[in-house]
Parts: sequence; C-alpha cells; structure tokens
Amino acid sequence: MDLHNGSLFWPTTLEGEQVFKGKQKIDKHYDAVIVGGGMSGALTAYTLAQEGLHIAIVDKREMAGGSSSANTGLLQFSNDIMLHELIEQIGEKKAVKFYKLCQKAVDQLEGVSDTLLRDTDLIRRKSICYASTKEHVQKLQKEYEALIKHGFPAEYWTEEEMKEHLPFVKPAALITYGDAEVNPYRFIQGILEYLEQKGVHLFEHTEAKEVEEQGSGILLHTSIGPFSASNIIYATGYDTIPIDEKIGSDINRSYAIATEPIEDLSSWEDRAIIWETKRPYLYLRTTVDNCIIAGGLDEDKPEAPQSEEWIVNRGQRIQNELRKLFPDLSINVAYSWGASFGESLDNLPFIGKHPHKERQYYLLGYGGNGTVYSMLGSNILRDLILDRQNEDAELVKLDR
Ligand SMILES: Cc1cc2nc3c(=O)[nH]c(=O)nc-3n(C[C@H](O)[C@H](O)[C@H](O)COP(=O)(O)OP(=O)(O)OC[C@H]3O[C@@H](n4cnc5c(N)ncnc54)[C@H](O)[C@@H]3O)c2cc1C
Repeated sequence: MDLHNGSLFWPTTLEGEQVFKGKQKIDKHYDAVIVGGGMSGALTAYTLAQEGLHIAIVDKREMAGGSSSANTGLLQFSNDIMLHELIEQIGEKKAVKFYKLCQKAVDQLEGVSDTLLRDTDLIRRKSICYASTKEHVQKLQKEYEALIKHGFPAEYWTEEEMKEHLPFVKPAALITYGDAEVNPYRFIQGILEYLEQKGVHLFEHTEAKEVEEQGSGILLHTSIGPFSASNIIYATGYDTIPIDEKIGSDINRSYAIATEPIEDLSSWEDRAIIWETKRPYLYLRTTVDNCIIAGGLDEDKPEAPQSEEWIVNRGQRIQNELRKLFPDLSINVAYSWGASFGESLDNLPFIGKHPHKERQYYLLGYGGNGTVYSMLGSNILRDLILDRQNEDAELVKLDR
C-alpha cells in the first residue's frame, strides 16, 4: 500500500545528510523489538532507551519513510474533537485528563528535541482556530469556556477583534497557547541518530511477518531472519494493522502543500498555527524557510491518491484557499502530496497491550494529533512493559 504520493517537502530539508548507519547483524535477544520506524516507533524507542532497555527497530521501508514524512508538523494540545465535545462523549474527568496528557506531550516533545544533535525546527507557537461559519460561533464560545474552566491557556476574539490581528475576517476565533511546529522528518532522523548512539539497532527494509510465542518470550520472523524479544511493539501506522479483531478506525486520505518561500510574512500574526472549526478542516503554518505548509480536503478513500494530476489539482485548491486568507502574499505551490490518514471512530488513539496476547503492544496514534499521541503513547507503553502503574492507559486501551 502506498502511504503517500506526490512530491514531499520534508525529505528535501535533509538531502544528502546521512544521519544513521543502520544495522546488519541481529543480536541474540532484545528487550523489545519495535515494528515501524516512523514517529511512533522512534519516540517509543527513545522513551524505552532512557530505561536502559536493549531495543531494535525494524521497518520494511526506509526509516521515517511512512506517513510521518507526509506529516505537516503541527503539535497541538487541542484535538480534532474539541474539549467540550469530548466531555460530552466520555465525561469531564476523562476528557480533561486526556487534554492535559496532550498538553504535557507537547512539552515533552520539545524536551526530546532539545536532547538531539540535529536542529528539528521545533518552535513554540500559538494556535488560531477560526469559526468557519456564523453557526460555529457558539461552538467556539463553548470551547473557550471549557478550556478556561480547566486551566488551559486560551483567548477568544470576536469578529471585530480578529480585524486587529489578521488580514482575513471570520465570525470569531479561539486562540490557544503552548502549541508548536516542527520539521517531523528532521525530528525523527535526529531521534534515530541519537538512538543509534545509545545502542539501539535500526534495521531498514526489514519486514515483520509472523510472531511465535516462545515460553516467556517472542520470536518475530522477519524478511532478514528471526528476532528473539521479550516484547513486541507495533508502531505500524495506517499501513498494516496486525491485530485479530477490527478496531474502530477509519482510514481516509488527505492532501498537503508546501509553498515557495515568501519574502514578507509580517501580516501573519506571530506565525501562528491556523485552523478552523469546519470538518474536514483547512490548516496552515509557516516554516523556518518562510514557506507555508497547509493541508486539508480529506476524502473518504483509504489509499493515497495515485494520479499526479489529481494531487496537483488538490494542491492548487489548497493554494486558492490560502490566497483568499492572505491576499497580500505571493503564494505559489512548490510541493504537493496526498496521503492516507487514519482516524479512530471515537477520536482517541489506540495504545496498549493486545487484549489476548501477552507481550504484544500497539501504538496507533490515529488522528490529526498523531505526533502528540506518539509521545504520550510511548510513556504508557514504557509503564506497561515495565509493569508500572499507569492511570492513563485505560483511556486509550485497544479494547475500550
Ligand atoms: C497529510 C498528513 C498530515 C498530517 N499532519 C499532522 C500534523 O500536523 N501533526 C501531527 O501530529 N500528525 C499529523 N499527521 C499524522 C501523522 O503523520 C501520523 O500520526 C504519524 O505519521 C504516525 O506515525 P507512525 O510512526 O505511527 O506511522 P508511520 O510513519 O507510517 O510509520 C509506520 C512504519 O511502520 C512500517 N511498517 C508497517 N508494517 C510493517 C511491517 N509489517 N514490518 C516492518 N515495518 C512495517 C511502515 O513501513 C512505516 O514506516 C498527518 C498525517 C498526514 C497523512
């Protein structure tokens, strides 16, 4: 399955730089083998490596070659499902706990970035979520009240107030603080480089196939031979879901663009992350090279689009939306891509132990906040594997 097609932007920001060597020889035994070398696999290995565990990552593609390279790099504590909606769905205590976990994960991602040798272009940003229509104003007000009540940093702008900040006017906007933007590709490559120095073994072009339970351990059969491990973690993204039962997910596809660099972005208040209340939503951010990254136009089809012409057309539609918001900017698409995009039916990620199989774990961070889920999920899996108490695990477990 193609996870993405078209021309990706992020890999061009690391061209020609070899960051890790990779491994050829399989060790006798690993504490954990992680299947998938994307954002989820890299962050899980990072978190487990802090505990001194002996780890291998296997990926059937190149490391970071899956959905993570199509990621637009927004790190937000607000979710596709608003806090007040999540409260209605799972109750106040659990919903607030989940939002707090996401908020903490953004801080932790910055902490991880700070330990890396490579610049990941992680910059803290505020987010501006505008009301797409007048009917959505009430929803934004409700969300503002819910966020403030539970101590999240937020501000509300009326239509009049918006005029003071941005070149486009919408019926209202909700501002949240403490989010961030990142170059996800440089971030993962930086983590992998760090991991290799810590003794983690990285096997590219290595496909995980069968799993055999063996006494107190596991034998993972792969395209290059068997790996003996105490634990297996599937961080396989939207590609393969090697779980017996169907979990409540929906794989769609989405589009994104990167523009040519823009000389003057001063009309873009604080280079905030911008998104909207409509679903599916348009979202946009800037980069350190003065480009705009934007995405949206989700379609109800699981496989990444094949036609270049189709992808270019979708890219131009996103470009037109941007030009409407920022008529003063000279916006021209340089890269456009289309990619599979997974969501869970209840808007929460799937993280935890297989319901019936011992020592087999999953980190499937479905949703627009995938990276934040990868971070918070790595903490949960660390505790489950090390038999530590974790009160958050219940919220995101697979058989919920
Ligand atoms: C267009 C787009 C924009 C997005 N924007 C954002 C954003 O702004 N912010 C955000 O937080 N998230 C965003 N996401 C979501 C984010 O990209 C995902 O959450 C993230 O990439 C998931 O990482 P992963 O490691 O789980 O998956 P992947 O990066 O896909 O990694 C999984 C890896 O597993 C490997 N694999 C699968 N099966 C096997 C096997 N049997 N053997 C060996 N290897 C295997 C694959 O080759 C792959 O490399 C976006 C996604 C898309 C598509």
